[in-house]
Amino acid sequence: MEHLGVYIQVPFCGSKCSFCNFSSRVARQEVYDGYCQALFREIESLPDLYKSAGIEPRLDALPADTLYFGGGTPSLLGDERFSNIVARLRRRIAFASRMELTLEMTPGSAGRQFLMRSRALGVNRLSIGAQSFSDKELKAVGRLHSADDTRELIAEARSAGFSNISLDLIAGLPHQSQASWKSSLRSAMALRPEHISIYLFEIDEKSRLGGEVLRHGERYHARFVPDDDFMADAYERARAMLQAEGYRQYEISNFALPGFESAHNLKYWQLQPYIGLGAGAHSFDGECRWENDSAVEVYENSLMRGASPISGMRKLRNSEQIEEFFFLGLRQRDGVELEVARGRWGDRLLAPWLLKIEALENDGWLEQVGDRVRLADRALLVSNEIFQQFIAA
Ligand code: SF4
Repeated sequence: MEHLGVYIQVPFCGSKCSFCNFSSRVARQEVYDGYCQALFREIESLPDLYKSAGIEPRLDALPADTLYFGGGTPSLLGDERFSNIVARLRRRIAFASRMELTLEMTPGSAGRQFLMRSRALGVNRLSIGAQSFSDKELKAVGRLHSADDTRELIAEARSAGFSNISLDLIAGLPHQSQASWKSSLRSAMALRPEHISIYLFEIDEKSRLGGEVLRHGERYHARFVPDDDFMADAYERARAMLQAEGYRQYEISNFALPGFESAHNLKYWQLQPYIGLGAGAHSFDGECRWENDSAVEVYENSLMRGASPISGMRKLRNSEQIEEFFFLGLRQRDGVELEVARGRWGDRLLAPWLLKIEALENDGWLEQVGDRVRLADRALLVSNEIFQQFIAA
């Protein structure tokens, strides 16, 4: 039976990291209240909101088996607002009996009481933005927490009953050395989280740090950002160390102990349906993609005057669907099954893709075992370039 994923966007943070260009911001408690009111309206206007936008009514009928609170730092909402959101969701959407309910948080943003309340509400997975275990690196990018705060949060979470914890780490932060990166990886694994995500620091010109790096400026420790060779070594080191400790790489950036892969994120890579609620949240019903306005004020104003917060919608043509099938599916280490594409879009649409696969396989970027195609190990670090070639070829 098909299930739905539900994503709730909470665009607030305790501080703004210098490398971040997400639409998240530091705000007062009253702003959280206003946002939650709009979110309640959005939840309560389901399914009419989708029907009036011409979106498949079948989504209403699907029970959800994943719920993901992301952002931003959703734990900042506090337990009362959080439990209100969950209660309202439960009234509108059927929850499957086995449900993955993930909450993102940063160390220092959630205390014991919040952890216990969220566990009691059904949260069974925490995704913690640790980023590094070097206090110097954390401070350089404006994080409010220390490595000890991460350790403390995990200890509290374990004692509150959480048995599925994911940690995020970033390779390539300013001041990072191979030794400090190795030490962060060791510290993370010593805590034995069930899941670890490894992100490579990206120079985003719209972030404060990214802009300075591109301008060769000095602010935000810009001249201490490691180069691309460092990044490549750091990624390979992470893969080797994590895999040696039993963390299987199941996606370009994600590693998990067996059985602890993120069910919610797998939906994105496997073109399964999900709805996103909140400012800037994205949704997909299998054929159509749509998103809410990302400006918090516009999102709130639309909902409070009874209008739709949806700012864009696009029905994917078959040729675009098959492109997404490869583009997203190949992020997974298990790759994609050609039979699935054949069954869904037919031999005629698949034929040009088979030629592209053959060409990239001959160049050593893709590998095929039976009916499965996946990225070769050497393609992982340059996956974006390979995907570009694949789509353009
Ligand atoms: S906590 Fe996350 S979303 Fe918030 S500013 Fe930092 S990187 Fe961005």
